[in-house]
Amino acid sequence: MFTHDCNECTFLGSISAEETTHGTPLDVYVHADECDPTIILRYSNDGPDYYSFPLSVARHVAGHFEKANKWGIAIKLYAEYQEAVA
Ligand SMILES: [Zn+2]
Repeated sequence: MFTHDCNECTFLGSISAEETTHGTPLDVYVHADECDPTIILRYSNDGPDYYSFPLSVARHVAGHFEKANKWGIAIKLYAEYQEAVA
């Protein structure tokens, strides 16, 4: 697990390097927002080393891939988190 520099984010889980074509593991976070939470994929300890999309955009991007891609896996982790806190 990498160091993440936002203490408002919730850690959702990690994606192993084998699960994606990214080549390194990814830590998945959600940054809560009333309208559209942000999904964050961190891939190193360096502050700027992450990808992020609003959830709506992440869903759209994931829909373009037939196989499980990092955004699809992240959305699944987010859905599991939502069920857990419901
Ligand atoms: Zn955050």
